[in-house]
Amino acid sequence: MPDTAPIRDGDKIRCDACPVMCFIKPGATGACDRYMNDGGDLVRIDPHVILDRAVDRGEPVVQFLERAEDWDGDLVKPGGRFVTAIGAGTTYPDYKPAPFIVSSQIDGVDMVTVVTEGIFSYCGVKVKIDTDRHLGPERSPVRAKGEMIGHVTTGEYGSQMLSLGGVNHLTGGGKKQGRMTCDAILDLCNGKAVELTVDDGATVLVQAGKPPVVNGVLEERMRVGCGSATIGMFAQQWFGKVDEVVVIDDHITGVLSEHQAGKVLGVKETGLKMTGRRSTPGRYFEVAHPGTGWGGTAIVDPLSILGPFDPKVAWPGLSMLMISTTGEQHAYYELDAELKPVARDLPAALAESVERVKENCEPALSTVLFMGGAGGSLRAGVTENPVRLTRSVKDALTYVTCGGAPVYVWPGGGITFMVDVTRVPSNAFGYVPTPALVAPIEFTMRLEDYAALGGHLSHLRPLAQVLAGEGGRKLPQLQGNPWPLAPSDSKRSHG
Ligand code: SF4
Repeated sequence: MPDTAPIRDGDKIRCDACPVMCFIKPGATGACDRYMNDGGDLVRIDPHVILDRAVDRGEPVVQFLERAEDWDGDLVKPGGRFVTAIGAGTTYPDYKPAPFIVSSQIDGVDMVTVVTEGIFSYCGVKVKIDTDRHLGPERSPVRAKGEMIGHVTTGEYGSQMLSLGGVNHLTGGGKKQGRMTCDAILDLCNGKAVELTVDDGATVLVQAGKPPVVNGVLEERMRVGCGSATIGMFAQQWFGKVDEVVVIDDHITGVLSEHQAGKVLGVKETGLKMTGRRSTPGRYFEVAHPGTGWGGTAIVDPLSILGPFDPKVAWPGLSMLMISTTGEQHAYYELDAELKPVARDLPAALAESVERVKENCEPALSTVLFMGGAGGSLRAGVTENPVRLTRSVKDALTYVTCGGAPVYVWPGGGITFMVDVTRVPSNAFGYVPTPALVAPIEFTMRLEDYAALGGHLSHLRPLAQVLAGEGGRKLPQLQGNPWPLAPSDSKRSHG
């Protein structure tokens, strides 16, 4: 909350927490619905979130206010509470100290946490979608409600990747593009489902921590590996039960009899001919165009990628399993007298291996990482000499969290961080209409380090005093997140 008296115009009050500078009537909210004029006071509407470690440690949760009311001026006993930046307010353009600069003492170590809701014009999300299905060519525009908000970026092992948001889409395009970009990445960060369409590609419903839905089909499994890896993993289980196996994959399609794994086992040659480009024995690239069919290819009929069997090598009755990398699609054939594959029921002995492929696939999820750069002015709310904060983060003296969640800070210049939004308490992200996202950010360090980097020491407030003065919302620490106030961990590396 700004610490200088706000400017008034009659009974309207000016919010200076972002460049929009709304004049807000009594009882009304500003353009972002984050601030309101409450009887002449400018107040942050959402409750300020305090994390409570008791649940994480298996201790009974006590009412936050019960303990706060008992405050007698001493520090609250060992760091069971953490003041997050969620709902804390912003001090735009941060020539003022951050809204909360909280001191606490943990196991005899004086600690400081500087808390602010940052306004991020330079921000976006990286989305990992566990699917083999082709979402669209690399670099294709990704749209929300018709507006381009990002693009398809390089795929990863078993996953398609999208890069959404960023300053060019937020502020570098038209107004509508900026608004749609802001809406979409805000919803993704707050755990809501967002429908995205890829030019010349698929429509995908993405929600952090949930399976993606590609062209209306719920994706259940992430592939076990590429076709070649699948041959390597399951060759032993197929050996002796079937003469040939083809694992269809958009990246590398594997052929058991030619593959090194088959050779080691002594699998006989079968005279099978594949389309595509042979990379190394038993490994084929580009057997088909990418798509949403078998193994992330456009294949509907698996036989379409086979040439005629070599009559000098193949034999009538030769058995062949064709399977995708998730096991979701599979078919079994035997060659007739003319060496043509004829579909047959899957023998029980092979059904087990198909189930094993499926069993080894992990559940498909969409993962959303928020990425933002804590820029020059935000840092000024922490220290009079902002570059020292950057150095302190790089030296791992200052621990950065986002709503209490651990972040990854990129090496190199600036404080550019990424956070898994499912590790951040719900609805922690907001927006301002510039447009930009508002994200919580906390900097925790030892008091001596804070003093050394030129921190706003005159604005320090003891943790207990903050707790007593805040009618905040207490949330349990999310399971699996490290406790941000542990002094022994205060030199944790972010990388
Ligand atoms: S948009 Fe929100 S933060 Fe910005 S000035 Fe208006 S009320 Fe304040």
